[in-house]
Amino acid sequence: MKKMLLCALIYISSLSSVFAAETGSIVIPPIHVEVTDKLENGESFNSYLQQLGFNGRDAYLLSYKVNKAYNLKKLQRGQELVTVFTDDINTPISNRRLARLDFYTPKDKRISLYKEADSYNVETSKRRLKTSTQYRTGIIDSSLYNAAEDAKLPIALIAGMVEPFAWDIDFSRDFRKGDSFKVIYKEILDEKGHFLRHSPVLAVELNLARRGTLKAYRYKPKNGRSNYYNEKGESRRKSLLRTPLNFKRISSHFNPKRKHPVLGYTRAHKGTDFAAATGTPIKAAGDGRIVRRSWYGGYGRYIKIRHNAKYETAYAHMHRYKKGLKVGSYVRQGDIIGYVGSSGRSTGPHLHYELIVNGRKVNAMRAKLPKGKSLPRNEMVEFKKEVDRLNKLLNPPKKIAKKNSPQ
Ligand SMILES: [Zn+2]
Repeated sequence: MKKMLLCALIYISSLSSVFAAETGSIVIPPIHVEVTDKLENGESFNSYLQQLGFNGRDAYLLSYKVNKAYNLKKLQRGQELVTVFTDDINTPISNRRLARLDFYTPKDKRISLYKEADSYNVETSKRRLKTSTQYRTGIIDSSLYNAAEDAKLPIALIAGMVEPFAWDIDFSRDFRKGDSFKVIYKEILDEKGHFLRHSPVLAVELNLARRGTLKAYRYKPKNGRSNYYNEKGESRRKSLLRTPLNFKRISSHFNPKRKHPVLGYTRAHKGTDFAAATGTPIKAAGDGRIVRRSWYGGYGRYIKIRHNAKYETAYAHMHRYKKGLKVGSYVRQGDIIGYVGSSGRSTGPHLHYELIVNGRKVNAMRAKLPKGKSLPRNEMVEFKKEVDRLNKLLNPPKKIAKKNSPQ
């Protein structure tokens, strides 16, 4: 048990007169000592209670009660537990009694074990969090990363700022000196106003010399997951990924007249080769059904996915397939389907990736990708309202903008 905030708060109870203890002629009120601990490796709720002074049987019974409100097996190392002890100041610390013990779940519920009369009860309530809207803007000088850092954009949100544009932007080429960005997100604060975490990026505006102004707004449709849209309500997400893995470099481009590195003679290379370490996960480029999953001559271990009547993608030279996948399996965009290898006719670990449109292999790096889903018409009024609200935040009055935060 590590004392994180020992005696973080010592305050005089409003009921002090009721419990006041008298020492001679001086009235000494009871004190409340609030302590925040973190569970350490291997520590359980039960063992924590025993450290607070409960005997084994009581600790077991209390854990059993709390477990009905929240599965205590889910508590992890580092989980904060806030205890409040109420006792007369004359009581030695070792004899203080637990008045309440609170902890917060990852889904922002507050679980409280509290003393009432002579027994302990458990209560579950919704955590009352506060938020503070944040605005950041920056101009790229040396790199996007440095500009984001200068603008005090949390590092964790840098990826979140560019992610909505992953389908439209070539990050290595499209950012230039003088390009700028604006970002809106929220800080989520606990009951006492202490920082807890960041929200995802809520809105981004990029002003790129090469590409013009690009915007993305986070919005949750009534029957769907949150996603990023442009101002027209079109998903920023395309229905196919251009690059289905994290790769080191493109080792061979789509080329109808390439000299084959193994066979030696001229043979078209109708795919893109991504060099990557053996075992690098390969993702499904889009939602679809697996139509082939087998050894396929020079392709080695091979998977082909049919996305719709028009689009298919193929993945070759895999080291191994993701377990559980077979012909007929349905996969979603981004699901791992296998791992980079060098099976079949191959000179080294890489993914050979093919995009097939109407039965013809095309250059996946150049092809126009099919659009993602747009918001349904009946959501547009609500969506426009949200866009207006976010646009106002993206364009704060000049004076405030200088301070880098409107609220
Ligand atoms: Zn290839």
